[in-house]
Amino acid sequence: MDYDYKVKTAAERAKVEDLFEYEGCKVGRGTYGHVYKAKSKASPDSKEYALKQIEGTGISMSACREIALLRELKHPNVISLQKVFLSHTDRKVWLLFEFAEHDLWHIIKFHRSAKANKKPVHIPRNMVKSLIFQILDGIHYLHANWVLHRDLKPANILVMGEGPERGRVKIADMGFARLFNSPLKPLADLDPVVVTFWYRAPELLLGARHYSKAIDIWAIGCIFAELLTSEPIFHCRQEDIKTSNPYHHDQLDRIFNVMGFPQEKDWEDIRKMPEHQTLMKDFKRSTYGNCNLMKYMEKHKVKSESKAFSLLQKLLTMDPTKRMTSELAMKDQYFLEDPVPSQDVFEGLPIPYPKREFISDDDNEDKSDNKNNANTNHSDQPPQKRVRVMPPVTTSSSNMVSGEFQVRKHVHNMQSGSQQQGMNFSSSNASQGSASSGYSRF
Ligand code: AMP
Repeated sequence: MDYDYKVKTAAERAKVEDLFEYEGCKVGRGTYGHVYKAKSKASPDSKEYALKQIEGTGISMSACREIALLRELKHPNVISLQKVFLSHTDRKVWLLFEFAEHDLWHIIKFHRSAKANKKPVHIPRNMVKSLIFQILDGIHYLHANWVLHRDLKPANILVMGEGPERGRVKIADMGFARLFNSPLKPLADLDPVVVTFWYRAPELLLGARHYSKAIDIWAIGCIFAELLTSEPIFHCRQEDIKTSNPYHHDQLDRIFNVMGFPQEKDWEDIRKMPEHQTLMKDFKRSTYGNCNLMKYMEKHKVKSESKAFSLLQKLLTMDPTKRMTSELAMKDQYFLEDPVPSQDVFEGLPIPYPKREFISDDDNEDKSDNKNNANTNHSDQPPQKRVRVMPPVTTSSSNMVSGEFQVRKHVHNMQSGSQQQGMNFSSSNASQGSASSGYSRF
């Protein structure tokens, strides 16, 4: 390459550390890297950002293409990837997002603690409905654009704090499971960690080889149930899951304990699942004879004749081909009855949740509430540390680019990419309402 050209482009290239103040402001650690709260150095009083430093170094060509795609996504309920920085000195990749002060993991945790201390906190009557509607809206947009999330869980559902987008849901980490599914380091080099299976659809646990939209819908059903009850519906002790095998006996057992064992008439293709034989060997239908979702939810004081329960049942349908789509779910009666969903999930009331705290570099904010043992999670929250289990076969292959970054052309595309028009929250038909009771608790 022309030496002068190289020097010129290096001088012109925006460096994350020159543009943003973020040192000492780490707010989270996820599967793919570290997240910092950042402010622009040029105008420190203005907007807050989240800067994600991707774990490992380098970037594959397919990751590059996917990042370019994600930069095109624009919807009020999907976190927007604003810029990508490639640091040529240490080969680190940085992603710049808008900053969201809250997330459902912290919100649910707050309510659980309040309940445990017998000081339940009042929440807007409509909050759960607004949250679920906005999650569905964002996922519908992603699905319509052929992006699957593949890792929906409370920690990935962000909610904006004070500001122009107050109380708006932002789905985070979308598409990243596919982006970075080819680990930058061999699995064995990573922390001995655990993956969260609680939001994983039964077909994946039975070895389905492809992700589908239905897998995201199952996870939304799990989040919905958790918001209604404050308990992770498919909570399962997760010890020493260090396998690439998707079959997970205890997680399936937990699902059947809530839902009952799937009837062949309800899920005909269950026989075709790769792990069907293991399932038949390991489980007896009669063990779960008394179990069903209605019983479980009634136990948690959610009435089976409520619209909320009716929608939940359609989202948590075992057969993925019969599971409701996001499009249909958004038109469900639950959202049409009063009170209808609102854009500010806090409905203008004071936000009771604490702001994100900064964590130190060696401190993992332990989402298991069990700081001493990252491998054994006996608590009611999923473990923070997660292993990248090899996902089912995907369509993108990841060929790592070695040596000098070979991504200039793509990065140029990313940095100048046009933005697609998104859908509007108010464009939904949720405002045609009829009166009935809503839920006002977690
Ligand atoms: P992730 O790598 O996306 O799983 O992020 C790890 C943690 O960082 C999340 O659980 C959030 O607590 C936090 N986080 C991620 N994205 C953002 C964001 N855009 N704004 C604020 N916090 C974020």
